[in-house]
Amino acid sequence: MAVLDQGSKPFAKSARAGKQIDNAESGRQIRLLTKFTQPVYTRFKDKNQDTMADIVDELTRSRMMSGIRGKNTKPELALRRALHARGFRFRLHSSVVPGRPDLVLPKYHAVVFVHGCFWHRHEGCRYTTSPSTRPEFWQAKFAANIARDSTVRRDLLEAGWRVATIWECALRKPERVSEAVSTLQKWLLGSEDEIEIGGEA
Ligand SMILES: [Zn+2]
Repeated sequence: MAVLDQGSKPFAKSARAGKQIDNAESGRQIRLLTKFTQPVYTRFKDKNQDTMADIVDELTRSRMMSGIRGKNTKPELALRRALHARGFRFRLHSSVVPGRPDLVLPKYHAVVFVHGCFWHRHEGCRYTTSPSTRPEFWQAKFAANIARDSTVRRDLLEAGWRVATIWECALRKPERVSEAVSTLQKWLLGSEDEIEIGGEA
């Protein structure tokens, strides 16, 4: 990440810091920003008049912290554990597969994405909140995410992969995890190309 490359150099360009926030695609970047020395943070604040903390509500922020490209998120770990316990073996975030899916199960020609509801815009989901400020910024960001997801899914299907999408809301409670994994298991053992698992009871 660009932020890390700065090393111990004084982070002199506040414009750069602003860019990082604008491009913030994961909680990781946001957390890194808050680790900057106070003067840098203050300069950024002066320039942009607000901070991440000011512009999004509590629920949204927690969604952001789980991150669109977050790896090893709690829901993802719950899924892995449950799937592994049922005897399935998989590779993680394989970079040789388009879109770097969260799980790859070569034996079943299947990939699994765990999608955060906020970032990937799970339709009709209570976690798919919309920040009330800078609506155009967010709309553009969300549209880009949706477009990317759609391209990745199409590329995978064309390459002969089967594609499962599991929304994080389906993995938030232990009892829901086993339900979701049962559904996924059936799909893995079947022959359908695609499945989407999500929704809160
Ligand atoms: Zn959801």
